Amino acid sequence: MNHDIDIKKVRINCFRQSKVAGEFMLQLRVPGALIEAKHLTMVQEICEKWGNGTFHMGTRQTLNIPGIKFENIEEVNKYIKKYISDVDIEMCNVDMESDDYGYPTIGARNIMSCIGNAHCIKGNINTYELARKIEKLIFPSHYHIKVAVAGCPNDCVKANFNDFGVMGVNKQVYDIDRCIGCGSCVEACEHHATGVLSLNANGKIDKDACCCVGCGECSLICPTGAWTRGTKKLYRVTLGGRTGKQNPRAGKLFLNWVTEDVVLGMFGNWQKFSAWALDYKPEYLHGGHLIDRVGYKEFVKHIFEGVEFNPEAKMADDIYWAENEQRGNMHVMPISQHKHAGPAETANYTFTQK
Ligand code: SF4
Ligand code: SF4
Ligand code: SF4
Repeated sequence: MNHDIDIKKVRINCFRQSKVAGEFMLQLRVPGALIEAKHLTMVQEICEKWGNGTFHMGTRQTLNIPGIKFENIEEVNKYIKKYISDVDIEMCNVDMESDDYGYPTIGARNIMSCIGNAHCIKGNINTYELARKIEKLIFPSHYHIKVAVAGCPNDCVKANFNDFGVMGVNKQVYDIDRCIGCGSCVEACEHHATGVLSLNANGKIDKDACCCVGCGECSLICPTGAWTRGTKKLYRVTLGGRTGKQNPRAGKLFLNWVTEDVVLGMFGNWQKFSAWALDYKPEYLHGGHLIDRVGYKEFVKHIFEGVEFNPEAKMADDIYWAENEQRGNMHVMPISQHKHAGPAETANYTFTQK
């Protein structure tokens, strides 16, 4: 059959083009990577009725259904109306209508999470709860952004390779009177984390607080409860990680010991920041590249507008990315192709080629 398909329109609708002509793969969002098991029956039904009978677990934790023929997309979209309503509108409280046309955009990508403290003994936070709150702030939006949430700095979800990598951390509390000097926490910190603990001459613990990553391994191992996790939920955030052909790179430490209010305040400004940076003319550009274009200092000014930092919070003074850091001296964009950020009339700098 001949097709005249607007591939871009179909992609925005979350159907990815297949190498088989006229076929597409639906990507269902699962913000925070946790949903009720009942939805799997629906996924199986779509796979078998409209797909090619196979199922693919998406690399961004979407539920992928390959082999859907173009002419069936309309029917599939009607069928997933309830799923979108249950997951995005009911579960994540996203401000959108549930209609017969499927996903309104693919811009903000699915928010990935590890299982967090809903299951993992090392988790400092409930990852899927935070992911759902972030979903409400960044979706639906045509602005591209990749976010992942890890329950602790072990970062099993590889949040570090996202535009924003959010990890649960915790200030541990030490009760010197309960400490029997067994040294288990020293070993655990040395083995699993940064080795900042030592036993002193009195058989008690000294800590070099500079490099504690707030993982909680010390509290997990302590047999007497001398170390316990603090009650305040805190986060570290890495910025600007990405995969990609041009210049893949790991994110760099951006925020540490910030509260959920700071994290959510930041994501609440993402769409406004993106609109400004693109001079209010929507353009398909990966979020990390947008931050590069604007520059760290300017980005920080916009992304924290109206956000109040908690007293423990720390933010990187500056972040320098070497565009060629993983690629030797290849694939660096010529300076003549660099673009301005923000409204054209207010751009106060120009690039000149020497
Ligand atoms: S990142 Fe931490 S909380 Fe998440 S699964 Fe790994 S160890 Fe557990
Ligand atoms: S594990 Fe607990 S009891 Fe043992 S040295 Fe560390 S703090 Fe003290
Ligand atoms: S929370 Fe800090 S002191 Fe405890 S194990 Fe982790 S890095 Fe070490």
